Amino acid sequence: MKEIFMKEALKEAQKAYDKLEIPVGAVIVKDGKIIARAHNQKEIKLDTTKHAEILAIQKASKKLKSWRLLDCEMYVTLEPCSMCAGAIINSRIKKVYIGTMDEKTGVVGSIFNLFKDYKFNHNVEFETGILKEECEDILKRFFKELRKAKKVGGKWNAKSFTHINYSFNNCCYRFYSSNVNIKIWWKGWRKYAF
Ligand SMILES: [Zn+2]
Repeated sequence: MKEIFMKEALKEAQKAYDKLEIPVGAVIVKDGKIIARAHNQKEIKLDTTKHAEILAIQKASKKLKSWRLLDCEMYVTLEPCSMCAGAIINSRIKKVYIGTMDEKTGVVGSIFNLFKDYKFNHNVEFETGILKEECEDILKRFFKELRKAKKVGGKWNAKSFTHINYSFNNCCYRFYSSNVNIKIWWKGWRKYAF
């Protein structure tokens, strides 16, 4: 069951990947059903708070018409950062299932453990290593492509990559609205860009 829900979180991570966002996905489950799903949208929204976990919490709260996500469980492909871990505690989520760890910014065991080492008015249970390889693999693939994009002919740097990101997203919206199969177009675009 855990793997099934983590697979759904991975589908969300793939959506982020396809938008050139760092591929992190999250789903929130209540009574064995997914009530919210989201992926990282920091670049596309130009907003550092648009992490998958925060967006999933917002959607679940809307659905339950409450900020208290009692008896809810979150499945997230990457270890939460301090901002998201704080939001998880405040939203009263019961348990968090984590795919892979984030040694640089993760606060559920990597840098420290916000769910274990500190006392809050709500304790969040957690479990790590759910579909670890898959969750790690999608991130590795993403950063490999990013490095490649930065290298090609010295022409691509972080700035041009960001620029591509914006133009790509703009095109994306246009294509979505005209109902063109974005997947086919995306594959073609990637061939051209990398
Ligand atoms: Zn976060």
